[in-house]
Order: sequence, then structure tokens, then C-alpha cells
Amino acid sequence: QAKIHLDRVVKKYPGSKVPAVEELTLDIPEGEILVLVGPSGCGKSTTLRLINRMIEPSGGRILLDGEDVTKANPDKLRRRIGYVIQQVGLFPHHTIADNIATIPKMLKWDKKRITERVDYLLDTVGLPPEQYRDRYPRELSGGQAQRVGVARALGADPDIMLMDEPFGAIDPITRERLQNEFLRLQEEMHKTIVFVTHDIDEAIKMGDRIAILGERSTIRQYDTPERILAYPVDD
Ligand code: ADP
Ligand code: ADP
Repeated sequence: QAKIHLDRVVKKYPGSKVPAVEELTLDIPEGEILVLVGPSGCGKSTTLRLINRMIEPSGGRILLDGEDVTKANPDKLRRRIGYVIQQVGLFPHHTIADNIATIPKMLKWDKKRITERVDYLLDTVGLPPEQYRDRYPRELSGGQAQRVGVARALGADPDIMLMDEPFGAIDPITRERLQNEFLRLQEEMHKTIVFVTHDIDEAIKMGDRIAILGERSTIRQYDTPERILAYPVDD
């Protein structure tokens, strides 16, 4: 059974004539990174927001471990699904520690458990806790803020990560470092990940499997990076 299963998922935004996502079917096995790659506006972000139920599908079904997300309790979804976006949107008036603690606090973990978790996560993403926990987001570089975004998404140890151009706004050298570090981390974490990018090189580097999407999220090619490289789409 796939960890994440999309069954003919449709999303039509109110007022728009064409759907953003049209009958998208995907199966993502546990522990794999599926990269969604495709042009701007093809529905990649919409697909992620459907999976974590920030928006509701207009048709089809989304199952996590066989359970329909529309029936899952929202707290449970937040615990299970980490979400990282390009403009990481840290809360500016909260310290780094408080930002990382967002989901554990929502889940009402006790203070000691939260402190230990925050320090562990700062270490995990390569920011020494004693130096960073009490800083504010404005004191961080773009790359450091993105690390904090990853740490926040890992807050309650989700089994699923949805990553929407997580390294997109970062300079190329730092981006490459973050990609490599994230892949190393993933070797231990074995999260099930849907990773969105419009950069085919990043897709080939990060993906266990790649779905190349066209308009309305129609799948044009779906394969391993090796096979995508060997058999490029012809137009
Ligand atoms: P991508 O992530 O691939 O760039 P999106 O999922 O953001 O694509 O958008 C897919 C389509 O849905 C686009 O045509 C976009 O304009 C439209 N869209 C996205 N969000 C909304 C919204 N909240 N309301 C209406 N239309 C939207
Ligand atoms: P609040 O409702 O307390 O204002 P938000 O909705 O702003 O909190 O969410 C805070 C953080 O939780 C966000 O930065 C986001 O990363 C994460 N989050 C929110 N909703 C979800 C979700 N459905 N799945 C995963 N993460 C989420």
C-alpha cells in the first residue's frame, strides 16, 4: 500500500474556468522522494496544499496510509505532515526556538520535551542550538532561515514532508549545500516526501522518482531520474 495515494484528484478554484489539477493519480511509496517538476502555474503547489488539506479537492480522493485526508483530524495531519515553502515565513517576533516549536506547542507538548526537541532539530539542520535558539528571524541569512524552516517542519517528527521549492530562493552555492545535507539527512529519516521544483536539475538530484507535469498537472512523464535522463520528453 502506498504511503500517499492520489486517486483522480481534481481541484477547481472558485471562479476559474479550467481546473488547476485535473484527474491526478499518484502513488508514493513510504520512504521515497517524489519530485513534481513542471512550469509555473501547472498546479504543483495546489497538489501539495491538497495533500495537507489546506484546500479541499473538488473531486477524487487522497489517502494517507489508506486513510482519507478529509476524514483525518487536523491536529493529526499537522503532526504527520511537515510543510516547507520557499518564502519560509518565520514568525518575525518569535525566536528561532519558538518558531521551531510551533507545531509541538499547538499539540501542547510539555516545556521540557519542546526544549529538547528544538535543540535536537537545530543540531540536525546544522545550526548550533546555543548560538541560534534565542535569535530572531531577521538575524538569519536566507540559507539559515531555510534551515529553520526545515527544522520547523520536522517539529513533531512527521512521517510525510511536503516541500515547495524549499531551496528556490537561495543562492546556488548554498542551495547545493542544502540539497546535499538534506539528502544525507533523508538517508536516516526515511520520510515520504513530495518535493516541488521547476528546476529539472534539482529534480534529478533530489528525486527517487520524478513526475514531469504539464498543464493542469497532467503527468507527461513519470520515472526514475536515470530513465528521465535517458528518455527525455520530446518537446
Ligand atoms: P504551480 O505551483 O505549479 O506554480 P499553482 O498550484 O500555484 O501552480 O497554480 C495552479 C493554477 O491555479 C494557476 O493557474 C494559478 O493561477 C491557480 N491558482 C492557484 N492558487 C489559486 C487560488 N487561491 N485561487 C484561484 N486560483 C489559484
Ligand atoms: P495558526 O493557525 O496558529 O495561525 P498557521 O496556520 O499559521 O498557525 O500554521 C503555523 C505553521 O504550521 C505554518 O508555518 C505551517 O508550516 C504549519 N502548518 C499549518 N497548517 C499545516 C498543515 N495543514 N500541514 C502541515 N503544516 C501546517
